[in-house]
Amino acid sequence: MSDLVSQTALIVASQASAQEMDAGDIVDSIRVVHAALMACETGRETQEAFLERLGETPMASIKKDEIICLECGQPFKLLANRHLALHGLTPSQYKAKWRMRKGTPLSCIDLTKKRRAYAKKAEMGWALERYRKVNGIKAKPKAVTTAAKKKHAKKKHA
Ligand SMILES: [Zn+2]
Repeated sequence: MSDLVSQTALIVASQASAQEMDAGDIVDSIRVVHAALMACETGRETQEAFLERLGETPMASIKKDEIICLECGQPFKLLANRHLALHGLTPSQYKAKWRMRKGTPLSCIDLTKKRRAYAKKAEMGWALERYRKVNGIKAKPKAVTTAAKKKHAKKKHA
């Protein structure tokens, strides 16, 4: 008898001892319990095989809309420090373990792009603000800016 079949038999036998079951009930129960055990078994194997395969090409765990934790196979938008701590790892330890470059962002590609764009925008805003401060320029309404452009254009012509 396979492991699965003997486990099924044990479970159904204990069911049958706890409640009244006729032959049909027992057959039904065997079918249901066996299928459930099998699903657990294949599910676990698939997950292990999946992680093993993913571990061979760690960068493939970073996808467009999700990043898969190479420790547990769970998908995320970003791999939070808090989650990595559950595996006893810091982000840099995680990257080192899975042979990722130090600068690799632990977030899905879409989110990384969004964050970069935001950082760029914020940086530009900050640079402009600093430029204005250093040069004693106040942010002006649009109309004045257009006038300044015209003035500049005139200068160019002269
Ligand atoms: Zn994990």
